[in-house]
Amino acid sequence: MEGGGGGGEDCCVKVAVHVRPLIGDEKLQGCEDCVTVIPGKPQVQIGAHSFTFDHVYGSTGSPSLAIFDECVAPLVDGLFQGYNATVLAYGQTGSGKTYTMGTGFKDGCQNGIIPLVMNALFSKIETLKQHTEFQLQVSFIEILKEEVRDLLDPTSLNKSETTNGHVGKVNVPGKPPIQIRESSNGVITLAGSTEVSIHSLKEMTACLEQGSLSRATGSTNMNNQSSRSHAIFTITLEQMRRLKPVIHGETTCETLNEDYLCAKLHLVDLAGSERAKRTGSDGMRFKEGVHINRGLLALGNVISALGDEKKRKEGVHVPYRDSKLTRLLQDSLGGNSRTVMIACISPADINAEESLNTLKYANRAR
Ligand code: ADP
Ligand code: MG
Repeated sequence: MEGGGGGGEDCCVKVAVHVRPLIGDEKLQGCEDCVTVIPGKPQVQIGAHSFTFDHVYGSTGSPSLAIFDECVAPLVDGLFQGYNATVLAYGQTGSGKTYTMGTGFKDGCQNGIIPLVMNALFSKIETLKQHTEFQLQVSFIEILKEEVRDLLDPTSLNKSETTNGHVGKVNVPGKPPIQIRESSNGVITLAGSTEVSIHSLKEMTACLEQGSLSRATGSTNMNNQSSRSHAIFTITLEQMRRLKPVIHGETTCETLNEDYLCAKLHLVDLAGSERAKRTGSDGMRFKEGVHINRGLLALGNVISALGDEKKRKEGVHVPYRDSKLTRLLQDSLGGNSRTVMIACISPADINAEESLNTLKYANRAR
């Protein structure tokens, strides 16, 4: 058995596997289901390979709700205690990352993780707002070819064709590129990307929708909606406890004490994990494949370094700087922050090799 043993309670990265059902295309091709989820155990099998993770979700019941309740809700609670967090959806193109995260605004996205996070966040704020003042901000960016692009930029053009054949947002010429900055206390910020102040669930939903629509897609042999970019939806929560509660809507006792907390939650729909060769890549596309692999490679190395207690104790270098993705997530991976990786796989036999690769990658994270 591969992936035996426990990640341990103190492990900062939890790994869940989500096996989607066979979809129409796969059924039409006569694919067989080659993935077994062991009932009542967080275990998954492909052929002779068996893996154990923190959680495994098959297609029965409401996996998104269960993933949210068991893996993500604790991270939302942690936000209110000032802990940064990251949720990552990993897997080959077509494995269900976007569906699981709810970054697509297509079928079933209402039950995606991000809409569930938003609901939970606003419910919790509602119960606490008498004693606490909240400020919420959202940013939505993507990393494509090691370049950061703003998905919420109000001035950029929608659906324009760029020289390299992408359909998507184009940043206005002359606009300085978005930069990842690290402050002296280790806080990572994005300079030059849009931060939207949010006052309602509706406003936050609109940001998710706007960014999802403008996410760059380009066609490959695998899937013509293939996303070769990492999409990162970030919610920042600032809170200031009031000295006295607001009574009957009167805001006369607005005095705030020094009790201030700020934390952020990154919700990441990663680029497809398939090898460049399988997408028939060449020229430009191949370069993208290579760059995407760079982010996923760096992420795998960072998470594996964080998960290895022995290495951590020896103070082994965590290679955050190896990609834009890991630099951006640096203050929300490891340390006091909490991370959940959701490894998405297709059950179809034609995808067995990639599914196995995904499980091996996810296994390194434990
Ligand atoms: P990815 O983002 O990994 O490329 P998608 O989320 O776009 O994959 O999913 C690929 C296809 O499979 C879509 O048509 C999607 O609707 C479908 N799909 C994904 N996950 C599920 C699921 N859990 N249940 C039903 N259909 C799903
Ligand atoms: Mg997708």
